[in-house]
This record gives sequence, structure tokens and C-alpha cells, in this order.
Amino acid sequence: MKITYPHMGSLNMVLKTMFEGIGIEVIDPPPTSNRTLTLGVKNSHEFACLPFKINVGNYIEALEKGADTIVMLGGIGPCRFGYYGQVQREILKDLGYNFNMIILDPPHGRIKDFLRDLASNFPGVDLKSAIKSFVLAVKKMLAADKLEKNLLIYRAHEDKQGITTKIYEKYMEKLEKAKDIKEVDRVLKEGIEKLKENANVQRKIQLKVALVGEIYMLLEPFTNMDISKSLNELGVEVTKTEYLSDYLINSAFKLPQRMEFAKNARGYLERDIGGHGLNTVANTVKYAKLKYDGVIHILPFTCTPEIIAQGIINRISRDYDIPVMSLVYDENTGQAGYQTRIEAFVDLLYKRRTV
Ligand code: SF4
Repeated sequence: MKITYPHMGSLNMVLKTMFEGIGIEVIDPPPTSNRTLTLGVKNSHEFACLPFKINVGNYIEALEKGADTIVMLGGIGPCRFGYYGQVQREILKDLGYNFNMIILDPPHGRIKDFLRDLASNFPGVDLKSAIKSFVLAVKKMLAADKLEKNLLIYRAHEDKQGITTKIYEKYMEKLEKAKDIKEVDRVLKEGIEKLKENANVQRKIQLKVALVGEIYMLLEPFTNMDISKSLNELGVEVTKTEYLSDYLINSAFKLPQRMEFAKNARGYLERDIGGHGLNTVANTVKYAKLKYDGVIHILPFTCTPEIIAQGIINRISRDYDIPVMSLVYDENTGQAGYQTRIEAFVDLLYKRRTV
């Protein structure tokens, strides 16, 4: 079996650690590129959301490299994600690829059922090494998220442009190669120290922006044109409101984060609307209350939950007097136009602080 999966932030590092730990060969899809996007767009329905198209491109590139099994999450709910896997499987079969697709429903608190379902696809796997590699994979995921949270603050203060990105990439590579939990802890500690050492620029006015929106768009720098980097390079500290660990842990255990979202969104949105629409509304309220300078909402074109959230967060913007900008992405989005909008938004935030 040669297993593959779509790119989604640090997901490939996590799954690679898990599968290689139980002796299964992994074929990483090549990093998402313009070729990936072109393949995905060419072979998907025009109105499919952007993450769907990029997933298709990732799969084609991994199948070309020799993968024969695709792992994908499924699900239920008022959003198209639930049937991504089935539709993608049919597209790839029509293209003539020969492979097996494993579609796993998120556990939503039923961890035992989820693990039983997962294990049934890998008969003969040793339980002890499965648990060991699972724990190491979770540890790496938490470390990768923490390292990125630090990057998004320290990069706004870097001494030399590009230095903190290089440090981050180097330590992400080290995390990927880490063989045990102790090594993960050591790499994370050292990585954060190095970021800190190389970030000494201080400003009289320090802007803070929260990024809210659809999770795939937030996690994939290629897809959002590395918006965090653009903001950091303008001297803005960035807080990304969704990380892979939050998403997986919440969907696994139904943890209190959902209750926190419901509480923060109260008065604006009283129910889950699918995808991450509720999170977007709740996070906008949360960071408005924390007196952030602004909120940027990122969403894929045709994403229904985020389109509903977009209407609501305009009201939050008025109620809390916080600037909110929505950026809608699709395959035709151009970097230059978005860079101009980001710069104009940051200018506006500086002006609000100086008058
Ligand atoms: S949340 Fe939006 S972009 Fe993501 S799968 Fe659902 S509809 Fe598509």
C-alpha cells in the first residue's frame, strides 16, 4: 500500500509520522503549485470550492508519483465538504486512475468508533506501534502550530527581511524528522528562541490583525497567497484563528471550543451553519472585544457558510467599530490586486491609531 492525502497546513507531516510509524509507505503529494491548481481546475466542476479543486490537483500529482491509496475525511452537515471524497473519487476514476479511497467520518466524540473504522483499513497493524506513532504525530502537530503562532508575531519584528521565515522553515523540517517526543520538545524550544533572537524591531504603533474564515484557506499559504507573510512584512502582528490542532481535536472530542464559539456569536448567529461559518462570526466578536486593530476574513468563492458569515460580520464591524475586510479567493485571484488591498487596509488601520 502506498498512501497519500491532500495538503492542508501541517497535515502531511502529521499523517506521514502516523503511517510511517506503522510501516506503511507514504507518497507525499508535491508541494501545491500552479500546476496543482491547473490540474484541479481542469478536472473539477466550475462551481466547486477552491479547496476541492486543489485537493483534486494534489491527488493527481500523488497518483502520478505512484500512490495507490488516498485518505480523506468525509462527514455530514450543511456544507459541501461532506461529499468531497465521493465526488473526487468519481472524477479520478473517470480519469482512469486505479486506486483505493478511504473516506473517514470525523469522530465527533465517538473516538472508539473512529479508531475501529480506521484500523479496519490496515489489518495486521501492531497496536503498540500504532499508539506510539499516533502520540508522536499529535505532539508534532501541536508543536508545528505553536511554532507558527510565534512566527506570526516575531516576523513582524524581524531584523532582516526573510530571516524568520528561513528559521521557521528550517525548524519545521527538523520537526518533521524528529524521532521522539523529547526531540520534538527540544526542536520547538530552540526554534522559538531563534525566532525571538532575530526579531528586535520595535514600533511606536504596533498593529494587530486577526485572520478569520474558512479553515483550509487559513491553513494553506499557497491558497491564501501567504497573507500572514504579507501582513508581517508590513509590520503587523497576526493572529490566525484556526489551526489544524484546534480543528482535529475539536472534531475528535467535541471540546468546549464549540461552546465558546456559540457564546461569542450569541446575538449574531444562534446555530451552526456548516463549515466554519459559526467560528468566523464568533472569532470576529472575540478579537473585536480584545481590541485588535482589524479583522481580515478569508473565504473561497462560492463557500456558502462563509458568505452567510460575511453578511453578519459587517454588523459586528459596525457594532464594535472595528474594520473588517473580506478577501474572496478563487483560481483567478491575482497576487498584485490582493497585495494592494492589504496595504490599503493596513494604511487605514495606522490612520485610525494616529488621529
Ligand atoms: S466550508 Fe466552504 S469551502 Fe469549505 S468545503 Fe464547505 S463550502 Fe467548500
